Amino acid sequence: MLITDLEKELNKLTHIARDLGYKINKPVLFVDPIFGSKLAYYQHNTNKIVIHDHFVETAEYSEVMNTLIHEMAHAVAEQNNTNVDKKGKTIRVWHGDAWKDINAKLGGNSERFHVGTYHKPEHVKKTMAELFAIQPKYPADRWERGTYKQWLSRGYHVIKGQKGHLHVWEFSADEYETDTDGKTSNWGKASAFYFNNDQVEANQPKEK
Ligand SMILES: [Zn+2]
Repeated sequence: MLITDLEKELNKLTHIARDLGYKINKPVLFVDPIFGSKLAYYQHNTNKIVIHDHFVETAEYSEVMNTLIHEMAHAVAEQNNTNVDKKGKTIRVWHGDAWKDINAKLGGNSERFHVGTYHKPEHVKKTMAELFAIQPKYPADRWERGTYKQWLSRGYHVIKGQKGHLHVWEFSADEYETDTDGKTSNWGKASAFYFNNDQVEANQPKEK
């Protein structure tokens, strides 16, 4: 499936959700490699839907659509969520009734996990030469920052002499699709050196 088609479908879903009476701030779509077994996730605090690039490129249209609807239903459910606990803290919907309801209305199947013929391949480590040969698909300012290798996978490399900044990264529990609602994924904490988008430049096109 082409990313431009996926963007169009996201626009349609946004209109459908509005026609259904929901308030929705259209999520930003990212098609990027996702490490681990997940195919997609919705990040509530940044309003991002991220879908694994290989899945988008190779899976059946209907399977990708179903995943998009699944994640869009998370966006609509969380953005329209008015449930609070006794202290006034928002109680997330996760895959609760509101999500199920919206997912069904948007035309999704009721499966919480992916069903279909697509199988995510084992992550194969690329050599540095292969990484440096990746060409950018998007301008660098699509991302605020990234690790040295993340930038390479996006088609950029860190400019010589640039220093990264250490960041201790903690996923809050809502950032990933996890096996148990409300539980933080096991990749919950990480620390890494990050480089901003003004510290990188595009990889060189392959010489012919
Ligand atoms: Zn989900």
